[in-house]
Amino acid sequence: MSDDVPQIPDASIPEMAVRKVDPAHEPPAPRRAMAIHAHPDDQEFTIAGTLAKWARAGSEIVSVVITSGDAGSNDPRLRADSRPALARLREAEQLAACRVLGVKRTIFLHYPDGELVADLGLRRTLTRVIREVQPEVVVCGDPTAHFYGNSYINHPDHRAAAQAACDAVFPSAGTRLIFPDLLEEGFEPHNVRKLFLHGVEKPDTWIDIAETIDLKIAALKQHKSQVGESDIGRRMREWAAEDGKARGLASAETYRVMVLVDEA
Ligand SMILES: [Zn+2]
Repeated sequence: MSDDVPQIPDASIPEMAVRKVDPAHEPPAPRRAMAIHAHPDDQEFTIAGTLAKWARAGSEIVSVVITSGDAGSNDPRLRADSRPALARLREAEQLAACRVLGVKRTIFLHYPDGELVADLGLRRTLTRVIREVQPEVVVCGDPTAHFYGNSYINHPDHRAAAQAACDAVFPSAGTRLIFPDLLEEGFEPHNVRKLFLHGVEKPDTWIDIAETIDLKIAALKQHKSQVGESDIGRRMREWAAEDGKARGLASAETYRVMVLVDEA
């Protein structure tokens, strides 16, 4: 990609033209961002380029990993009692990936992998974490995404994590008398300003990750138990190129951004 003005094939995507998205506009790096996902490696597959870019720009990034991926192997030698060891391995891989990206803090919530439900307990836990960390931006998946293409059913843990994250962002993080026990524990309400949803069918925001796609791949490769020897780098570059195409970007990650608190 040269420094020329990006080509914008608006004619081919009329719904974007109608929305009048400014292709040159990219949201500024937030002061503090929180990524919320179901499994170790979810953020590396999806938003790691954005997180690395924001971290380089001075953002404080906090990653919340709800399960520790302790069902993430079909090795026939594994049994139920193998799960704690697998969880420890995957947490170590996640921490290594976060170091590559410049994530300041990683919070593991230790829910069981493969059984996640967006219930009130999970919503309360995420509300507490959001109130404690007080992020300006929360990044999570699209809770409405059931299917991608013709070959991937979105993991139910991904949907549950995304649903609980959205529900924690609004209304419970910012509403004083929801989960009043949190108030008694000292967790004052906090209003998240923007919610970035990834994996959406119709994105409205593109983050140029040309400068951090290498970090994204390096971080993903820390998940050795998951990506193995596969040519994951090539796949990630293809995804990023595909996502950038609509805005003339060589590499991008795409989002739908909910602005919950208007800029003053
Ligand atoms: Zn996952």
